[in-house]
Amino acid sequence: MNRREFIKGAAIMAGTAPVAGWKSYEQSASGAGIRYSRTLPVKVETDVMVCGGGAAGVAAAVAARKAGAMVFLAEGFTCFGGLGTAARVPVFMQWGDGERDLACGFGTRFRERLRKAGALHGGERAFDFEAVKREYDRVMQESGADFLFQTRVIDVVMEDGAIGCAVVAAPSGVWAVKAKVYVDATGNGDIACQAGVPFEKGDATGHMMPASLLSAWDGVDWDRWARERPKRPQPFGSQLARAAADGVFKEPDLHMTGLYRFPNGYATANIGHVFNLDGTDERSLTRGFIRGRESMEEYQRYFREYLKCGLENVRLVETAAMMGVRETRRILGDYVMTLDDYMRRAVFPDEIGRYAYPIDIHPSSADKAAYEKHREEFDRLYRYRRGESYGIPYRILCAKGVRNLLVAGRCVSVDQKVQASIRVMPACYITGQAAGFAAADAADRLSGDVHAVEVKGLQHRLKDFGAYLPNA
Ligand SMILES: Cc1cc2nc3c(=O)[nH]c(=O)nc-3n(C[C@H](O)[C@H](O)[C@H](O)COP(=O)(O)OP(=O)(O)OC[C@H]3O[C@@H](n4cnc5c(N)ncnc54)[C@H](O)[C@@H]3O)c2cc1C
Repeated sequence: MNRREFIKGAAIMAGTAPVAGWKSYEQSASGAGIRYSRTLPVKVETDVMVCGGGAAGVAAAVAARKAGAMVFLAEGFTCFGGLGTAARVPVFMQWGDGERDLACGFGTRFRERLRKAGALHGGERAFDFEAVKREYDRVMQESGADFLFQTRVIDVVMEDGAIGCAVVAAPSGVWAVKAKVYVDATGNGDIACQAGVPFEKGDATGHMMPASLLSAWDGVDWDRWARERPKRPQPFGSQLARAAADGVFKEPDLHMTGLYRFPNGYATANIGHVFNLDGTDERSLTRGFIRGRESMEEYQRYFREYLKCGLENVRLVETAAMMGVRETRRILGDYVMTLDDYMRRAVFPDEIGRYAYPIDIHPSSADKAAYEKHREEFDRLYRYRRGESYGIPYRILCAKGVRNLLVAGRCVSVDQKVQASIRVMPACYITGQAAGFAAADAADRLSGDVHAVEVKGLQHRLKDFGAYLPNA
């Protein structure tokens, strides 16, 4: 797809066509609509409003406060951490390139806090959800940012090419927030979409990576598992084919990362996929939760009756309250980072960090050929050698056509292949902290214009904060 086709396609998605789910409320089945208007109280006025308190949102809020801005963060759920806590994503992906840390600044500081709190396990990648939630609480309280849980941004009001205010729905009702700059860290790019910024979703055919409903288990005899487990490459998946042939699974799935070991027979898991899920469509999400919970019963039977080796008494404790959505909207920014940039280990003049996780596109269907293509891409085709990394340009954070909006985290302006690398948590800390510093600067000196941020100054502030910027 060339650039013109890309922009045209993206513009259609951001227009009136109800593809995106968000805009679909504008059209009812009968074509009828109602007019609804009321005057809302402005309950918060601030320099920087951060929308969403996942990995990227917390990093953005902390960085903007560090730069001296007044910050308000609205989180729709009940805790910080987003997918990493509420959806129970069980591990941090790589912090560095095999030779050095790359997610420096907020990321490495947060890791140090988790280390001290004893919250990291398994080579410092697996973590205790509850401890991570509490550490995010503390970080945010110490930062001096104002924040609210159960406060969801549901719309924006535009004024002269900028967001004039954001409308939130909270337990007390619907009200507005006025800020000089907004950071969209919702993962789904909700705010950018509400502001009319074009976006893309999925591959050329619109297929998105499947989601996973993550889970917690107990009753694992880990010592027996260590002694008796089947050999690599897929100890947890070794009996999948047999169980599938016996009809254990409604939708047999070859992908099996297995259970992560915790003390006292406890385990967390990222197993199975929910296919054909659109994380911006509530009907699709509802179907996905039902299917995800059903499939965990299938896995429990699989572990007990087929895998055994210490899993005979395994028990599903809980599935996550938030769906594990890998990808939805990729918001179009001043630059779109592509596979070509990834392959050439790009260096950018406006670099705000570097990262190195491989391109990890989970196949959009359960068939064997798609799975084997995924393994080939992940293990060989796109994999970096030690010490290699790609640059992340500031322009992928600047939402196209809106003066005072930055995006951070998994919805930044990249193609699907790069999203499959940059979406993981350490990278979200990198884009989040850069968005925070840039937002503070734009609010302070540039009447909110994030596109006018002077890159050298931003890079200096990031370096002072500890960011890894060898080319700046
Ligand atoms: C199944 C699965 C496995 C993964 N495995 C790993 C892994 O092993 N290691 C790793 O590092 N990464 C992993 N990832 C990726 C990683 O967890 C996420 O991509 C990353 O956490 C995204 O962070 P974020 O801050 O951009 O968004 P999110 O974590 O999605 O946070 C967004 C936050 O915004 C809130 N929000 C959303 N909309 C609104 C709104 N309108 N108003 C207010 N608040 C809103 C949400 O409640 C949420 O708290 C995995 C992802 C999935 C789905």
